[in-house]
Amino acid sequence: MSLITEPKIFRQFPLVRAAMTTRGTGNPPYGFNMSLSVGDDGERVHAMRARLAERLGFAPERLASQRQVHGDTIGVVSDGHGADESDALITAGAGWLLAISVADCVPVLIHDPATMIVAGVHSGWRGTAKRIAAKTVGRLRDEFGSSPEDLHIYIGAAASGCCYEVGEDVAAAFDERYSRPIGNGKYLFDNKGAVLDQLLEMGVSGSRIELDPRCTICDPGLHSYRRDGALSGRMFGVIGMLPAGI
Ligand SMILES: [Zn+2]
Repeated sequence: MSLITEPKIFRQFPLVRAAMTTRGTGNPPYGFNMSLSVGDDGERVHAMRARLAERLGFAPERLASQRQVHGDTIGVVSDGHGADESDALITAGAGWLLAISVADCVPVLIHDPATMIVAGVHSGWRGTAKRIAAKTVGRLRDEFGSSPEDLHIYIGAAASGCCYEVGEDVAAAFDERYSRPIGNGKYLFDNKGAVLDQLLEMGVSGSRIELDPRCTICDPGLHSYRRDGALSGRMFGVIGMLPAGI
Protein backbone atom coordinates (compact mmCIF):
# COMPACT_ATOMS: atom_id res chain seq x y z
CA MET A 1 0.00 0.00 0.00
CA SER A 2 1.30 3.41 -0.95
CA LEU A 3 2.00 5.82 1.89
CA ILE A 4 1.00 8.80 -0.21
CA THR A 5 -1.69 9.74 -2.71
CA GLU A 6 -1.02 12.29 -5.43
CA PRO A 7 -3.66 14.75 -6.70
CA LYS A 8 -4.49 14.43 -10.39
CA ILE A 9 -5.03 18.15 -10.97
CA PHE A 10 -1.29 19.00 -10.96
CA ARG A 11 -0.12 16.11 -13.17
CA GLN A 12 -0.16 18.36 -16.24
CA PHE A 13 2.58 20.53 -14.67
CA PRO A 14 5.89 18.69 -14.89
CA LEU A 15 7.66 20.78 -12.24
CA VAL A 16 4.91 20.61 -9.63
CA ARG A 17 4.89 17.88 -6.99
CA ALA A 18 2.00 17.45 -4.58
CA ALA A 19 0.88 14.67 -2.28
CA MET A 20 -1.15 13.80 0.75
CA THR A 21 0.26 11.24 3.14
CA THR A 22 -1.85 8.46 4.65
CA ARG A 23 -1.98 6.63 7.97
CA GLY A 24 0.06 3.66 6.76
CA THR A 25 -0.03 0.40 8.68
CA GLY A 26 3.15 0.20 10.80
CA ASN A 27 4.30 2.03 13.96
CA PRO A 28 1.11 1.75 16.06
CA PRO A 29 -0.65 3.79 17.29
CA TYR A 30 0.76 6.76 15.35
CA GLY A 31 1.29 5.04 11.99
CA PHE A 32 2.90 6.99 9.17
CA ASN A 33 2.94 10.21 11.17
CA MET A 34 4.28 13.64 10.24
CA SER A 35 3.79 15.44 13.57
CA LEU A 36 6.44 16.11 16.20
CA SER A 37 3.80 16.99 18.81
CA VAL A 38 1.58 13.91 19.16
CA GLY A 39 3.92 11.74 21.26
CA ASP A 40 5.59 9.84 18.42
CA ASP A 41 9.37 9.40 18.38
CA GLY A 42 10.92 12.61 17.07
CA GLU A 43 13.80 10.98 15.23
CA ARG A 44 11.41 8.68 13.48
CA VAL A 45 9.19 11.60 12.46
CA HIS A 46 12.18 13.53 11.06
CA ALA A 47 13.19 10.44 9.11
CA MET A 48 9.66 10.00 7.70
CA ARG A 49 9.51 13.68 6.71
CA ALA A 50 12.89 13.39 4.99
CA ARG A 51 11.72 10.27 3.17
CA LEU A 52 8.63 12.10 1.93
CA ALA A 53 10.60 15.13 0.71
CA GLU A 54 13.22 13.03 -1.06
CA ARG A 55 10.66 10.79 -2.70
CA LEU A 56 9.10 13.90 -4.27
CA GLY A 57 12.48 15.30 -5.33
CA PHE A 58 13.10 17.88 -2.57
CA ALA A 59 15.89 18.31 -0.06
CA PRO A 60 14.63 17.46 3.47
CA GLU A 61 15.80 20.83 4.84
CA ARG A 62 13.59 22.59 2.27
CA LEU A 63 10.40 21.12 3.70
CA ALA A 64 8.61 24.16 5.16
CA SER A 65 6.05 23.57 7.87
CA GLN A 66 4.34 26.03 10.17
CA ARG A 67 2.91 26.17 13.70
CA GLN A 68 -0.80 26.01 12.90
CA VAL A 69 -3.13 27.89 15.24
CA HIS A 70 -6.55 27.85 13.47
CA GLY A 71 -6.10 31.49 12.50
CA ASP A 72 -5.95 33.37 9.22
CA THR A 73 -2.28 34.38 9.10
CA ILE A 74 -0.58 33.62 5.79
CA GLY A 75 3.20 33.02 5.77
CA VAL A 76 5.48 33.60 2.80
CA VAL A 77 8.30 31.07 2.48
CA SER A 78 11.66 32.07 1.06
CA ASP A 79 15.30 31.74 2.07
CA GLY A 80 15.54 32.57 5.76
CA HIS A 81 11.97 31.62 6.55
CA GLY A 82 11.50 30.42 10.14
CA ALA A 83 8.83 28.34 11.87
CA ASP A 84 6.13 30.98 12.14
CA GLU A 85 2.61 30.72 13.49
CA SER A 86 0.37 30.64 10.47
CA ASP A 87 -2.24 28.52 8.72
CA ALA A 88 -1.29 29.12 5.10
CA LEU A 89 2.01 29.19 3.26
CA ILE A 90 2.88 30.74 -0.11
CA THR A 91 6.13 30.47 -2.02
CA ALA A 92 7.42 31.70 -5.35
CA GLY A 93 10.62 29.79 -4.79
CA ALA A 94 11.39 26.56 -6.58
CA GLY A 95 12.79 23.81 -4.37
CA TRP A 96 10.56 24.47 -1.36
CA LEU A 97 8.06 21.82 -0.31
CA LEU A 98 5.23 23.44 1.67
CA ALA A 99 3.66 21.18 4.32
CA ILE A 100 0.16 21.42 5.78
CA SER A 101 -0.47 19.17 8.79
CA VAL A 102 -3.94 17.64 9.15
CA ALA A 103 -6.03 14.92 10.77
CA ASP A 104 -9.64 15.99 9.88
CA CYS A 105 -9.00 19.64 8.93
CA VAL A 106 -9.07 20.44 5.21
CA PRO A 107 -5.72 20.74 3.42
CA VAL A 108 -5.87 22.98 0.34
CA LEU A 109 -3.01 22.86 -2.17
CA ILE A 110 -2.74 25.59 -4.83
CA HIS A 111 -0.63 26.12 -7.94
CA ASP A 112 -0.66 29.07 -10.34
CA PRO A 113 1.07 28.03 -13.58
CA ALA A 114 0.98 31.64 -14.83
CA THR A 115 3.03 33.08 -11.96
CA MET A 116 4.76 29.83 -10.91
CA ILE A 117 3.64 30.05 -7.32
CA VAL A 118 2.43 27.35 -4.94
CA ALA A 119 0.47 27.67 -1.71
CA GLY A 120 -0.94 25.43 1.01
CA VAL A 121 -3.79 26.14 3.41
CA HIS A 122 -4.93 24.51 6.67
CA SER A 123 -8.67 25.01 7.06
CA GLY A 124 -10.36 23.45 10.05
CA TRP A 125 -13.84 24.75 10.77
CA ARG A 126 -12.37 27.75 12.55
CA GLY A 127 -10.13 28.54 9.61
CA THR A 128 -13.03 28.09 7.23
CA ALA A 129 -15.11 30.49 9.35
CA LYS A 130 -12.22 32.97 9.07
CA ARG A 131 -12.14 32.35 5.30
CA ILE A 132 -8.48 31.41 5.27
CA ALA A 133 -8.70 29.72 1.83
CA ALA A 134 -10.42 32.73 0.27
CA LYS A 135 -7.92 35.09 1.94
CA THR A 136 -5.02 33.08 0.52
CA VAL A 137 -6.47 33.40 -2.99
CA GLY A 138 -6.93 37.12 -2.33
CA ARG A 139 -3.32 37.46 -1.24
CA LEU A 140 -2.14 35.60 -4.36
CA ARG A 141 -4.21 37.97 -6.49
CA ASP A 142 -3.27 41.22 -4.72
CA GLU A 143 0.40 40.62 -3.93
CA PHE A 144 1.61 37.95 -6.31
CA GLY A 145 -0.20 38.89 -9.51
CA SER A 146 -2.35 35.76 -9.75
CA SER A 147 -5.66 35.68 -11.57
CA PRO A 148 -7.99 33.37 -9.62
CA GLU A 149 -9.16 31.70 -12.84
CA ASP A 150 -5.58 30.49 -13.45
CA LEU A 151 -5.33 28.70 -10.10
CA HIS A 152 -5.37 24.91 -9.95
CA ILE A 153 -6.45 23.62 -6.56
CA TYR A 154 -6.68 20.34 -4.66
CA ILE A 155 -9.03 20.14 -1.68
CA GLY A 156 -7.73 17.15 0.26
CA ALA A 157 -9.23 14.39 2.36
CA ALA A 158 -10.85 15.68 5.56
CA ALA A 159 -13.65 15.07 8.02
CA SER A 160 -16.68 15.05 5.72
CA GLY A 161 -20.43 15.50 5.74
CA CYS A 162 -21.00 11.76 6.29
CA CYS A 163 -19.38 11.77 9.77
CA TYR A 164 -18.30 15.23 10.96
CA GLU A 165 -20.68 15.85 13.84
CA VAL A 166 -20.73 19.40 15.21
CA GLY A 167 -22.86 21.38 17.65
CA GLU A 168 -25.09 24.36 17.18
CA ASP A 169 -22.16 26.76 17.72
CA VAL A 170 -20.21 25.46 14.73
CA ALA A 171 -23.25 25.05 12.49
CA ALA A 172 -24.33 28.62 13.26
CA ALA A 173 -20.98 29.98 12.06
CA PHE A 174 -21.85 28.94 8.49
CA ASP A 175 -24.66 29.10 5.98
CA GLU A 176 -27.22 26.41 6.75
CA ARG A 177 -26.52 24.61 3.47
CA TYR A 178 -23.32 23.18 4.94
CA SER A 179 -24.98 21.56 7.97
CA ARG A 180 -27.51 18.74 8.08
CA PRO A 181 -29.44 18.47 11.37
CA ILE A 182 -29.43 15.00 12.96
CA GLY A 183 -31.31 15.83 16.17
CA ASN A 184 -30.37 16.76 19.73
CA GLY A 185 -28.80 20.01 18.52
CA LYS A 186 -26.24 18.11 16.45
CA TYR A 187 -25.37 18.54 12.79
CA LEU A 188 -23.23 16.88 10.12
CA PHE A 189 -20.96 19.58 8.76
CA ASP A 190 -19.53 19.73 5.22
CA ASN A 191 -16.28 21.65 5.70
CA LYS A 192 -14.92 20.74 2.28
CA GLY A 193 -18.08 22.07 0.66
CA ALA A 194 -17.72 25.37 2.51
CA VAL A 195 -14.07 25.66 1.41
CA LEU A 196 -15.01 24.79 -2.18
CA ASP A 197 -17.64 27.53 -2.28
CA GLN A 198 -15.18 30.11 -0.88
CA LEU A 199 -12.81 29.33 -3.73
CA LEU A 200 -15.56 29.53 -6.36
CA GLU A 201 -16.72 32.85 -4.91
CA MET A 202 -13.17 34.18 -5.33
CA GLY A 203 -13.33 33.40 -9.05
CA VAL A 204 -11.53 30.06 -9.14
CA SER A 205 -12.86 27.83 -11.93
CA GLY A 206 -14.72 24.74 -10.76
CA SER A 207 -13.07 22.72 -13.52
CA ARG A 208 -9.68 23.52 -11.99
CA ILE A 209 -10.57 22.27 -8.51
CA GLU A 210 -10.09 18.63 -7.51
CA LEU A 211 -12.18 17.65 -4.50
CA ASP A 212 -10.85 14.56 -2.71
CA PRO A 213 -13.95 12.56 -1.71
CA ARG A 214 -12.25 10.72 1.15
CA CYS A 215 -13.44 11.23 4.71
CA THR A 216 -10.77 10.96 7.39
CA ILE A 217 -13.23 9.79 10.05
CA CYS A 218 -14.63 6.76 8.18
CA ASP A 219 -11.56 5.87 6.07
CA PRO A 220 -9.31 3.74 8.31
CA GLY A 221 -6.38 4.40 5.96
CA LEU A 222 -6.29 8.05 7.04
CA HIS A 223 -5.52 9.81 10.30
CA SER A 224 -8.49 11.24 12.19
CA TYR A 225 -8.26 13.12 15.45
CA ARG A 226 -12.03 12.93 15.81
CA ARG A 227 -11.90 9.12 15.57
CA ASP A 228 -8.64 8.32 17.41
CA GLY A 229 -8.13 11.30 19.74
CA ALA A 230 -4.74 11.55 21.45
CA LEU A 231 -3.53 8.41 19.67
CA SER A 232 -3.96 9.95 16.23
CA GLY A 233 -0.97 10.82 14.06
CA ARG A 234 -1.02 13.63 11.51
CA MET A 235 -0.83 13.63 7.74
CA PHE A 236 0.93 16.15 5.55
CA GLY A 237 -0.54 17.73 2.46
CA VAL A 238 2.50 18.96 0.55
CA ILE A 239 3.10 20.97 -2.61
CA GLY A 240 6.24 22.38 -4.20
CA MET A 241 7.89 23.26 -7.49
CA LEU A 242 11.08 21.57 -8.57
CA PRO A 243 13.77 23.87 -9.95
CA ALA A 244 13.69 24.07 -13.73
CA GLY A 245 16.34 21.94 -15.40
CA ILE A 246 19.33 23.16 -17.36
ZN1 LIG B 1 -17.16 9.77 6.83
